[in-house]
Amino acid sequence: MTPVPSGTSTINKIKPRTDCRRILVTGGAGFVGSHLCDFLVARGDYVLCMDNFFTGGKENIEHLIGRPNFELIRHDVTEPIRLEVDHVYHLACPASPVHYKWNPIMTAKTSFLGTLNMLGLAKRCKGRFLLTSTSEVYGDPLQHPQEEEYWGNVNPIGERSCYDEGKRIAETLTMDYFREHGMEVRIVRIFNTYGPRMALDDGRVVSNFVAQALQGRPLTVYGNGQQTRSFQYISDLIVGMVSVMEGDEIGPFNVGNPNEFTMLELASLVKEVVNPNAVIEFRDNTSDDPNKRKPDISKIYKSLGWEPKVVLRDGLAHMVKDFKRRLQVE
Ligand code: NAD
Ligand code: UDP
Ligand code: UDP
Repeated sequence: MTPVPSGTSTINKIKPRTDCRRILVTGGAGFVGSHLCDFLVARGDYVLCMDNFFTGGKENIEHLIGRPNFELIRHDVTEPIRLEVDHVYHLACPASPVHYKWNPIMTAKTSFLGTLNMLGLAKRCKGRFLLTSTSEVYGDPLQHPQEEEYWGNVNPIGERSCYDEGKRIAETLTMDYFREHGMEVRIVRIFNTYGPRMALDDGRVVSNFVAQALQGRPLTVYGNGQQTRSFQYISDLIVGMVSVMEGDEIGPFNVGNPNEFTMLELASLVKEVVNPNAVIEFRDNTSDDPNKRKPDISKIYKSLGWEPKVVLRDGLAHMVKDFKRRLQVE
């Protein structure tokens, strides 16, 4: 495929191509973003991967550098930028509680200003915009499982608010660009996702347990371990996200795996798959931790026929291979 140069100086003089799409992936060097870039590059789209490397890393996308249909742009989405694109997948935002609480003001700015700038960019390009929102917009949910019509139970002044409320305002902005400007927008609410390339230090439960089990350290269960999450493997998420972007409906769509586990059940499964000798250690839980979480996925199933395929036991095995290599353990 012939590369299409980007940048405002040359692009305006070049006749737009019609045989492949120019796709911007913000947060493209992160866990989810890098898998999305892989998928889009492999099928022949021209991918612009934008990242400020706050939580992502070049190692996640270095295998794509040099490919004629891949371009890496170091940029912070809180600053404006001009690019020419057809689709914007807007992922840029720290996602692990440890990371997003580390600099909560930056998280809130990224969610608000970053989303505003990327909506402005997509509007100018007359492109389509997809927001990666989160199950955290439901907060500590009073409805179970959560369906898209549920408005949530979010603490607006707590330690998680920078992220939860940040994503809620990002959804609001997205819908206002649709209502005010008639823009083509899509919203996905992603539920806990795991897989290869998760940051080793990101503090999320699956990456923590797998790394701990591989290194022979105790599995740290927060609180009494009875809180639940529903874990989705990365390849299922990528197919779901792309289907929503290319489908006809705005959403919001829950994208997640409805198989629900307590953290103690997850710890037992990780022990079984990774290291039967691992011991469990209880730690204090963090504030405002949602007690239960499970997606109702009937909306996306009815609309697009999407449902997850990978069960946790199999997904964990794929992740273990990647973590073993990166942690240099056998
Ligand atoms: P991640 O931390 O691995 O990736 C986020 C990427 O965004 C990183 O590469 C980071 O460097 C980049 N980034 C952060 N702030 C930026 C900024 N201001 N400018 C440019 N780049 C910036 O997280 P992830 O798990 O890949 O999550 C990706 C998206 O999916 C996020 O928007 C997150 O909210 C959403 N999401 C993820 C999950 C999940 O379980 N992984 C669940 C719900 C929602
Ligand atoms: N923006 C951007 N790139 C573009 C177009 C807009 O970064 O190609 C930013 C712009 O700087 C502004 C935001 O997106 O901060 C919203 O743009 P919009 O045109 O919707 O609103 P306005 O500029 O009128 O506030
Ligand atoms: N958790 C845990 N041990 C860990 C990390 C997290 O028991 O080492 C718990 C955490 O308290 C929460 C659940 O696992 O109840 C999911 O946490 P994670 O940070 O992965 O995602 P989120 O809270 O954003 O769903």
